[in-house]
Amino acid sequence: MSLPGAPFLARDGAELKLEGHALTDLAQEHGTPLFVYSRAAMLHALAAYQRALQGRPHLICYAVKANSTLAVLQTFARAGCGFDIVSGGELARVLAAGGNPAQVVFSGVGKTRDEMRQALLAGVRCFNVESLGEMDKLDDVARSQGRRAPVSLRVNPDVDAGTHPYISTGLKGNKFGIAHDQALAAYQHAASLPGLQVVGIDCHIGSQITQIEPYLDALDRMLDLVEAVERSGIAIHHVDVGGGLGIHYTDEKPPDAAVLVQRIAQRLDARGHGGRELLFEPGRSLVGNAGVLLTEVLYLKPGRADQGGKNFCIVDAAMNDLVRPAMYQATMAIEPCRVCDAEAATWDVVGPVCESGDWLGRDRALSVLPGDVLAILSAGAYGMTMASNYNTRPRAAELLLDGARVHLIRQRESVSSLFADERLIDS
Ligand SMILES: *Cc1c(COP(=O)(O)O)cnc(C)c1O
Repeated sequence: MSLPGAPFLARDGAELKLEGHALTDLAQEHGTPLFVYSRAAMLHALAAYQRALQGRPHLICYAVKANSTLAVLQTFARAGCGFDIVSGGELARVLAAGGNPAQVVFSGVGKTRDEMRQALLAGVRCFNVESLGEMDKLDDVARSQGRRAPVSLRVNPDVDAGTHPYISTGLKGNKFGIAHDQALAAYQHAASLPGLQVVGIDCHIGSQITQIEPYLDALDRMLDLVEAVERSGIAIHHVDVGGGLGIHYTDEKPPDAAVLVQRIAQRLDARGHGGRELLFEPGRSLVGNAGVLLTEVLYLKPGRADQGGKNFCIVDAAMNDLVRPAMYQATMAIEPCRVCDAEAATWDVVGPVCESGDWLGRDRALSVLPGDVLAILSAGAYGMTMASNYNTRPRAAELLLDGARVHLIRQRESVSSLFADERLIDS
């Protein structure tokens, strides 16, 4: 099976290269832990959606939380993308990166009054509202500004996306969305509020989804609602099917984005809704395979086989840099950046953080020596954005490769900046 991230990530002799750059060299020059992204890989992933949506009214809203570094947002903004945001902070990032607020949809179950104000002032395309309480608050904030807030109702279609419970969001027991059987009444309530303007319907059923059927089920459920809501005299302009398409980490075989789009568009057409604007909110599938996390092997700590001991490969990246394995038991491929001739063994790849949950990979067959650089693959999504400073560890630097050019898009955090906002007390 090809490497996750191929063809942009490829083995060239002994060297692992991303967009033609040897990763060992980048690690030597910029230090580790280090996130490295390929701009071409991001644009390639986006193009699959764009091509499949050509000729029909649509908007692709990149889900900022997958990777919110300014230069990444800038890359998507220049390519014509809109954005899906979940906080006022993400809105500020989108604006700082040159994104168009008129192409921003604002998702999230817990928007504050301040965030609503900020988004209304910026002129976002719509608020994806998730509860009656939120509607009332938004109506109030909008009227106090003399505006009408464009709204889409996030409905919970109650379909099983077949993914990890933490990232499954479209089931009845989840905190997300308005229950399907309450949605018609919720639309009528929205339409009665003078500060709101109904513009759409949306859902988002989960993340790392590797099948098309849950999307089609959710779409059918949404279209049933669209028809009922419009019969009651409320027009719905767009249908937003959310994000969630999975990527190849180790042995997953997610559908191609183009195939997913085609199937959704076909269903839309078949049900007579072909002229409706179609929105997507992809995050992981645009950036996940475009990035790697580089880390240096600090120590090898072989276990004693006669005591059933494990072999530990201790690296300088940890759960604070990449939390997916610790948080979701996610399996991500790990490759040496330069093949060495050490004897292969089975290693648990772990970081320096003081938690047994601090692991990056378990039971990996690797030939490694201290000082070698390893690449954790498919780390472009939910890597840096979920990084923390646990153990007072500065967050990693980030590089964006663009053909022959290497851009440092985030410098390594300094330790002093970590406590710059703290104050000692007077005795
Ligand atoms: C997280 C999220 C997305 C993006 O999900 P991916 O799995 O990264 O594609 C899209 N829409 C909403 C509302 C989200 O919360």
